[in-house]
Amino acid sequence: MISAKMADAVLTCVDPDELIRLTGSLVKINSVWDPAAGTSEQAAAEFAAAWAERRGFDVRMETVAPGRPNVIITHAAGPGPRCLMFEGHTDVVTPGDPAAWTYSPFGAEIAGNRMYGRGTNDTKGNLAAMLCAMAALKRSGVPLAGTILGGVLCDEEDQMIGVRHFIEQGHADRVTAAVICEPQDGLICTSQKGALRARFSVRGKMSHGAMPLAGLNTAPAVARIIAGLHALEEAAVSCGRDEHLGWPSFTPTVIQAPAGGPAQLNVIPGEARILADIRTLPRQSHPAIVAELGRLAEAVEDGVRDHYRDYDRRLGIAGRPALDLALEILTDRPCTRTDPSEPVVQAAHWATQRATGRQPLYGGVPGATDGTFLWAWKRIPIVTMGAGDREVPHQADEWVDLGQLVETAKIYALTALHYLGDPAAE
Ligand SMILES: [Zn+2]
Repeated sequence: MISAKMADAVLTCVDPDELIRLTGSLVKINSVWDPAAGTSEQAAAEFAAAWAERRGFDVRMETVAPGRPNVIITHAAGPGPRCLMFEGHTDVVTPGDPAAWTYSPFGAEIAGNRMYGRGTNDTKGNLAAMLCAMAALKRSGVPLAGTILGGVLCDEEDQMIGVRHFIEQGHADRVTAAVICEPQDGLICTSQKGALRARFSVRGKMSHGAMPLAGLNTAPAVARIIAGLHALEEAAVSCGRDEHLGWPSFTPTVIQAPAGGPAQLNVIPGEARILADIRTLPRQSHPAIVAELGRLAEAVEDGVRDHYRDYDRRLGIAGRPALDLALEILTDRPCTRTDPSEPVVQAAHWATQRATGRQPLYGGVPGATDGTFLWAWKRIPIVTMGAGDREVPHQADEWVDLGQLVETAKIYALTALHYLGDPAAE
């Protein structure tokens, strides 16, 4: 058991003003990855690194790609094999049309209990909370057994090159558990949906709309692929809903015919493209789904070829090309599930209860995060938690509740205390 005295010693060192200032400073730095506009994660990463250096942490910057560094902040708190990682990303998504915002996207304006701006919610507020939690633990002088590692990583919003580089450099080798600092509205999330993205490319033959028999329309194949995806979804859904993650989905998101160039009413498109965004539950197998998609592509290709062959025979047409269908898997990110008995989940549970006085609530993450790679590549137990309404990321007038943000810094600090706490040292 962690004593009340130790917990209070840590909590009194969490400084709300320091947290709100740091959040505001990070939000004011536009860290959208946009080479054309000249913005990247560089300035935000440098700011976080300098902040941590001033507080006496061991800080290391590594360039993942030009203008895109990772910052690795280490607090070797005491002897012990455990190493708890806090992970937060420096990149934010574009604010979109500034006219859609009531507040300045990079103004970090405070109104009432909220701070507004791109990244307040996803996830600079939580990034500041993890850094302030580390600073509080360090200041408190409370004995800990092990290491706290702050991973301030780039490119979470796109290809996640930051966390992949972090793992490839060997930094994850010593990490025994991780807290992924993302907006989950105070929920302790122990599972995440998986993602599979697929592209179906259909090739027929372009022709004049008045002479369809001179070409080969891709539309019958497109229709069958969409119907096939829905059938796969219905089969997956019949296995039931996940308590925290909800339903699996097989969604055709982009349907293009022609696959490129302008669409014209009197031109039969020779090529079509369908993108499918498939979100999975831990009980589903990704290799099995990939095999099902392959079978769907083959069945559609064969079925449409047969259909055209029979039709051409009926009409006495000869010499049309055979339809061609190709399938590519663009992304394969697995589901994650951390067992509730893992010490990091126990720590998050205790910390949430202690910091908020409430019974913790559990949830699941609908999308992939940097934690996906830590779990999938290194089997590191992860929990995802942080301040911020879960629907607000990537919207205009993004905001975070400052009271919840302060509570989050306390939860992070107590999670580390419980995970690395050394009751014998009191
Ligand atoms: Zn995020």
